[in-house]
Amino acid sequence: MLNFLSNNTVNKNKKIIKQINQLYKTINKYSNKELKEQTSKLKNQLTNKESNINKILPEAFATIKVAIKRATELELFDVQLLGAIALHNSNITEMKTGEGKTLVAITVGYLNSLENKGVHIITVNDYLAERDARLAKNIFNYLNIEIGLITQNTNHNNRKINYACHITYITNSELGFDYLRDNMSTHQNDIVQRDFNYAIIDEVDSILIDEARTPLIISGNSEVADNLYNTAKELTNELNNKVHYKIDEKSKNIILTEEGILSCEKILNLKNLYNVNSPWIKYIINALKAKELFIKNRDYIIKNNQVTIVDEFTGRIMEGRRWSDGLHQSIEAKENMQIAAENKTLASITYQNLFLLYKKLCGMTGTAKTEENEFFKIYKLNVIEIPTNQKCIRKDLPDLVYRSEYSKWKAIASECFDMYKIGRPTLIGTTNVEKSELLAKMLNRLRIPYNLLNAKPENISREAEIITQAGRKHSITISTNMAGRGTDIILGGNPEKIAKIVIYNYINKKSNLAFLNKKEDQIIQILKTIKISTLKENIDIEIIDKDLNKILNNHKLSKSFYNVLQQLTNIYKKLCREERKEVLELGGLYVIGTERHESRRIDNQLRGRSGRQGDKGTTRFFISLQDNLFRIFGGETIENIMKKLNIDDETPIESIILSRSLSSAQKKVESYFYDIRKQLFEYDEVINNQRIAIYTERKKILNSTFTKDCIIEYGEYTINEIINIYQKETEEQKIKVIQQALKLLNINDNLDIKSLTSMNTNEIKYFLHEQLRIKYDLKEVYLEQLRPGLIRQLEKYYLLKQIDNAWQDHINKMSLLKEYIGWRSYGQQDPLIEYKNEAFNLFINMVTYIRQSVTYLVLRSRLIINK
Ligand code: ADP
Repeated sequence: MLNFLSNNTVNKNKKIIKQINQLYKTINKYSNKELKEQTSKLKNQLTNKESNINKILPEAFATIKVAIKRATELELFDVQLLGAIALHNSNITEMKTGEGKTLVAITVGYLNSLENKGVHIITVNDYLAERDARLAKNIFNYLNIEIGLITQNTNHNNRKINYACHITYITNSELGFDYLRDNMSTHQNDIVQRDFNYAIIDEVDSILIDEARTPLIISGNSEVADNLYNTAKELTNELNNKVHYKIDEKSKNIILTEEGILSCEKILNLKNLYNVNSPWIKYIINALKAKELFIKNRDYIIKNNQVTIVDEFTGRIMEGRRWSDGLHQSIEAKENMQIAAENKTLASITYQNLFLLYKKLCGMTGTAKTEENEFFKIYKLNVIEIPTNQKCIRKDLPDLVYRSEYSKWKAIASECFDMYKIGRPTLIGTTNVEKSELLAKMLNRLRIPYNLLNAKPENISREAEIITQAGRKHSITISTNMAGRGTDIILGGNPEKIAKIVIYNYINKKSNLAFLNKKEDQIIQILKTIKISTLKENIDIEIIDKDLNKILNNHKLSKSFYNVLQQLTNIYKKLCREERKEVLELGGLYVIGTERHESRRIDNQLRGRSGRQGDKGTTRFFISLQDNLFRIFGGETIENIMKKLNIDDETPIESIILSRSLSSAQKKVESYFYDIRKQLFEYDEVINNQRIAIYTERKKILNSTFTKDCIIEYGEYTINEIINIYQKETEEQKIKVIQQALKLLNINDNLDIKSLTSMNTNEIKYFLHEQLRIKYDLKEVYLEQLRPGLIRQLEKYYLLKQIDNAWQDHINKMSLLKEYIGWRSYGQQDPLIEYKNEAFNLFINMVTYIRQSVTYLVLRSRLIINK
């Protein structure tokens, strides 16, 4: 079974698991109080020199296994323990959907929380963070471990408190933004995060691969350039594809042709469009991208009068995110919407570099193996496949290939019709909102009821409820990419959720809670009469959970409520079990893919929805030669085959040659995108090292109580730099340089400059250093007299302010640099090397500027006291 690991490791792990299960038997007999004491006992063991975290692993895992059992009645499977061991050893564990990864994270989270250094469990959205944290709180109640939760709605103070917990649930974007904000704060008290210790990333492929291409950015507004955007839009409406510009769909790029350049120059009355001092080219290219490559309801939607990004992989809405470098504004111009002010980047980081800040990192997902290489090269993480608890017996049928897209969709709709008639639950994955709506329309015509799950705001909050129903008989569910939906599909339905929905509906319809005053039996009798097959209403399980919790908090009846919920759940359990049997007889969940995605991993995620925990299930992809993947990445050979076989539009072919060439097309695309991410990473590494240097310096200053030394050091550096220049100058210039130095030090006494220049350079240096100290001491005495302690505050303020301003200018320069290097990359030099060299120079200039300006400002600070 465990052939993915070396024999040694397998045997070692087998032994550990046996040990855990033996300890489990013992600890299971403990009272709740004794169980709780386990935590302090294990923590104590850790302080023992001979012990370490690996030594206490078996007992910690056994302890958490008992806590899980008491809180949820679930008993961890061995494969879950195996997954947790792999996570503990900084790997990525590939565990299929439905294998219970949430509990795996909790298991390894417990062990690592015992070190009191913080454990972050990172999810892709607030819904999952809340759901998982709720479960964790129930479990860790048994163990004296504090669980923190941070979502978009958490305020500043609570963030700090929640970061200080033993284990914190948080989304990747909240984590990143907090990191950036912390590094912009000017008071120690404002800092919310602790040092990054250990992170467990759920759906690690979504976060580290799919989202790796868009950096997190905190930006401040600068002026609005409406005119430029609108003029560029109008201008590009006059330009034609293939004549004035060429589209490279592969790289999502657009290049102006010679004729295009001439037209633009003529219309704008310019001599040279590519002059560095002319702003136009950026606006024109963005307007063209907006026109040709970014399509409404596919790449973005309009929500609350805002252009909102739709994640191309997951179909999720990316709230608050904006495309950078003016692209977002160009799309706003295209949609005739108000154009947001252009943003100046204040701070930014990519997820790649954010997660590399952790001392220890690991992740879990259903699909990682295809990206194994990347995980290793960039994050130094190995991918370990964990076997499923039950053997997977799902059938993945060969693709059906149609000649035209139209006939493909017709075939899919008719397949749905057949499945609906026999009652087999079917899940159809589409690649974007537009296509899911197309299919929905076709099903309307066939009069088949279905649920639609896509990235639109009116649907997204219902997603958990829809998925709960997706395994019930006759369910037809259309969904955009399934990545990260986080809720697994249970055949026959989820009894507890159905029970909650029934109670909630009843309370809402009767619009009072009085009925809870009735005898429990009576309530059950009433609720039992509700047919669960009629439950396909617009219900959001998240809202239900929240509302019901409110009722429980406010109402004295919570005990009776729980009894009702329990009894009702038991009733539905039986019904669901029967329904599950029927569904299994029909073959289990049927998953239909409607297009091969650019990445095999995303296809695997969709397939993985079916066949959980040893259930029967089937998957099949319906594709056409007009699909993007074929069109863009070479489907000619296939088209030729089809022509030769003389096949009409309606007849699909099922062939191994076709499937193979499809897979190879996907591999081509994957490696293409990998190269882009790798390139991004390599470029980003340069700025990342600089960021680490600046943030470290900043932190040192922020945490220091005595910053005088730092200022003196900056001053001395600056003097040395000036003297270095001085050495190389002509006599005449030398005087100017000395004057500059004196000005910096705020010395305008009638100093004899001639006698100064007659000294040797070391003497001058020494003299100026001395002057610096004297000046500074005088300044200090002066300010101390006026207001004690003020000088230290001023120092800190100047230091942080100058660093921040200079750094912000610097990152904006760096992004321009990257763009320019891209444009001139046709030269001999490797653009990356050229970028590194120039970036280094920019950095040195920035540091010099910081030192100079801080020295200059501090020596000139005066206090004006308002009376
Ligand atoms: P994944 O994230 O791997 O898809 P989840 O963590 O969402 O899986 O769990 C899927 C389902 O399996 C949940 O309903 C959970 O309660 C259940 N489950 C997890 N572990 C066990 C177990 N050891 N025994 C029985 N059911 C389990």
